Amino acid sequence: MRQIIIIGSGPAGFTAAIYAARANLKPLLIASSVEAGGELMNTTEVENYPGFPDGVQGPELMAKMQEQAERFGTEVVYDDVTELELSGDTKTITLGSGEKHEALAVIFATGSAYRKLGLDDEERLSGRGVSWCATCDGFFFKEKTIAVIGGGDSAMEEATFLTRFASKVYVVHRKDTLRASKIMQERAFANPKIEFVWNSQVVGITGTDAVDGLVLRNTVSGVETSLPLGGIFVAIGNDPRTHLVHDKLDLTPEGTIAVAGRSSKTSQTGVFAAGDVIDPTYRQAVTAAASGTVAALDAEHYLASLPEELLASASEPALA
Ligand code: NDP
Repeated sequence: MRQIIIIGSGPAGFTAAIYAARANLKPLLIASSVEAGGELMNTTEVENYPGFPDGVQGPELMAKMQEQAERFGTEVVYDDVTELELSGDTKTITLGSGEKHEALAVIFATGSAYRKLGLDDEERLSGRGVSWCATCDGFFFKEKTIAVIGGGDSAMEEATFLTRFASKVYVVHRKDTLRASKIMQERAFANPKIEFVWNSQVVGITGTDAVDGLVLRNTVSGVETSLPLGGIFVAIGNDPRTHLVHDKLDLTPEGTIAVAGRSSKTSQTGVFAAGDVIDPTYRQAVTAAASGTVAALDAEHYLASLPEELLASASEPALA
């Protein structure tokens, strides 16, 4: 049995691992089998992470965080958690491989997942012109006319990035003002390849084998129009990834895992949560990293409060 297992490999998970490993807790970090590294793996230049005055590529930042966590003894497993038993002193985590791991404390840092428009054709045409990741798929849209849906920082970042490949990028937004930060807005407004389509809700995605257009409904007049396109990128935000624990831990009305005050303590003793999965508001790499620190310190205090016999049973990082 372990002292601590961390689930999630974004900035929150790896920062928690750095702190836990430096506290000699020999953490096991479970990174997803397909999405290891979290959301920054889908980002290009990160310009607002302190310590990198010239910016840093998202995947490079994550590789550095992992290197730092491993340097102090974090063990990383690439697999998906399929089942969790969180009640009682010993927590059990089952992986896709069938392997079971036990620990006295668990930090849940599973981040958030791309939000979908919820249209039938979105799933059908996923990978056939519908994408959620410009850095992953932008290359396939060379010289095409495409649309980015959304009005936040993600939409501005994706639209600006996609102008490297596409001949034209529409930004389709349901309002007439953007939620994105001023600097990202200005960058998009100044880009001659980007055109804004305001007050427009996507009500349909068309195409037989591949996307050939969107059906838009004007939110003011109600009039529907078609927009011929070679692809669409959905950038309308994220939802916290809580499917593994929604019936095991208390959630907030926003759908994030509920924690006590400014701590990382969830409704289950010995279970802590950090990063986007508890944060409906800030959701920055640096706030996630800070939140990972809080979780590691809370877990460390919790472990220190446990009886000696229980701690002794967790001295070996062996399989359960
Ligand atoms: P946001 O929640 O900030 O924005 C989502 C956008 O999508 C909003 O404009 C929203 O519209 C729109 N939207 C939501 N649901 C729908 C829907 N069903 N149909 C149509 N439009 C919809 O998410 P982001 O992913 O943009 O950003 C999340 C966080 O990450 C933010 O804190 C952001 O600052 C940060 N971020 C920072 C970056 C950077 O600094 N480089 C890059 C990317 C993200 P409405 O405005 O009407 O609500």
